[in-house]
Amino acid sequence: MIIFKNEQYLPCSIPEISYTYERKTISDKETPLYLREDLFVYPKNMGFIVENNNGQFLVDSIDLLQLIRGKSVNEICHKETDFEEIEQYYRYGLIGYEKNTTAKLIIPEINQRYFNLYDISQTTWFCHIPLKIELDITKKCNLQCKHCSRDASPITTEGEMSLQNYVDVIQQAGKIGVPEFSFMGGEPTCNPSFIELATVARMSGIRTLSTSTNGWLINEDLAKKLLFYLIQCR
Ligand code: SF4
Repeated sequence: MIIFKNEQYLPCSIPEISYTYERKTISDKETPLYLREDLFVYPKNMGFIVENNNGQFLVDSIDLLQLIRGKSVNEICHKETDFEEIEQYYRYGLIGYEKNTTAKLIIPEINQRYFNLYDISQTTWFCHIPLKIELDITKKCNLQCKHCSRDASPITTEGEMSLQNYVDVIQQAGKIGVPEFSFMGGEPTCNPSFIELATVARMSGIRTLSTSTNGWLINEDLAKKLLFYLIQCR
C-alpha cells in the first residue's frame, strides 16, 4: 500500500498535476456516524468509484464505508490511515452525525471476475485521480497548419520529454488507476515510439486509449496497430 503524506492529487512529482487538499478533523470519536445520503459505488480500474452530489471519489476498498452505519470513529478505525480515510469522507460530506437510516451504499451487481481483477490494487488508499490524461508525446508534426494551437512543425522538438519520462508518466498513471489516456501532440504518429507507449499503457492497466491525428502518416501496418491498441482514433 502506498501512502502519500501530502495527499497529492496524483502520486507523482509533476507540479502541474499535483494538488493538495485538507482533511476535516473529526474531534468527536465516540458519537455514531451515518452515511449522509445514498452513495453509488462501482468498480473502476483497480478500485471503486464512490459517487455523491459533490463528485466522484476513488477508493481502494469500501470496507470502512460499509462499517460506518451507526458506529463511532473509535469503533471502526484501528490504524492511522483508517482515521485519515474517515476524515476525508467527512470532509466531502459523504458521512456525518445525522441519523439517516435510509441512506445506503448502492452497489450494482458485479461479475466476480472483475472483483478478482481489482484485488491486485496497489493504488493509494484514498486518492482523487484524473479520470482522463492527455499526454503530448511529441511537439513535431509533418504539417504546419496556420491555425495550429501547438505551434507544431516538422523540426520542433524543444522541450520534449525523454522516452523514459513518457514511460514513467504512463506507468504512474496506470498504477493509480487512471482509466483513460489520450496520446496527443504535435502529431502523435511523428513519435517513433508511439506504439511502444501504447503497449506500456495497456500493460499498466489503462484500458481506454485514444489519440488525435491528422492521419497523413498512417499506413496499413500502423492502422492495424492503432486498431488493436486504441478505442478511438480521431
Ligand atoms: S496537423 Fe494538427 S498538430 Fe499538425 S500542424 Fe496542423 S493543427 Fe498542428
